[in-house]
Amino acid sequence: MAAGAAAPDQDRGAAVPAARPAPPPAGPPPAVRQIILVVEDEPALLRALRINLRARGYEAVTVQAGRPALEKATQREPDAVILDLGLPDLDGIDVIRALRLVTSAPVIVLSGRTGPGDKIGALDAGADDYVTKPFSMEELLARLRAALRRDGPAPPARPVAIGPSTIDLAAHLATRDGQQIRLTPTEWRLLEILLRHPGQLVSGRRILTEVWGPAYQQSTHYLRFHMAGLRRKLEDDPARPRHLLTEPGMGYRFQP
Ligand code: CA
Repeated sequence: MAAGAAAPDQDRGAAVPAARPAPPPAGPPPAVRQIILVVEDEPALLRALRINLRARGYEAVTVQAGRPALEKATQREPDAVILDLGLPDLDGIDVIRALRLVTSAPVIVLSGRTGPGDKIGALDAGADDYVTKPFSMEELLARLRAALRRDGPAPPARPVAIGPSTIDLAAHLATRDGQQIRLTPTEWRLLEILLRHPGQLVSGRRILTEVWGPAYQQSTHYLRFHMAGLRRKLEDDPARPRHLLTEPGMGYRFQP
């Protein structure tokens, strides 16, 4: 994917309503912005990361060396860390080990080093993902979203029934009346979030943030569009859903 191109909907052929959605009715208060600690000593790259993260609604805390990174992480725990391995003061691997003493937040490593030994060393020290420079900003942001998602509650390990359909998240398999059906990547991500919280209300803002990023918290029309698609595919009577429920003005609920 081209760097910088905002792609809120990656499903080919999906019709995305062009109009900006109306502001949602009085719903939950704005979500607390997720804090991303960025550690990078190249000023231009640091600036690009800060701009891109802020544009997507994250709070970017930026530092150019390892020691200030550890100070920031101790003062206020980040939700995720983007860490350059080649820093002026400390070795990046040592920074990962020290971060692991103060936070369990996912750490995504950026590195110009390409040897498998560096990657293994970073992962062994406690990093969650590894991106080799030069990288696509979109790819990094997608990995960040994935890392933030993985940090949440684990999805159900067993297949889950939704009316005539069965969803096996672990096997990435959906069937209806015993026949395999195809779900889009967005539909899988929506289902994963709802199925992780059976019986619970999950706010529209939270789903939008996890699937598309914090800048899309108001884009409730994406959500309505894809939820309607899921109901058509999975529910017995999509007009009267019994499992994929809308809580008007609030969010969605998976009712087992
Ligand atoms: Ca560097």
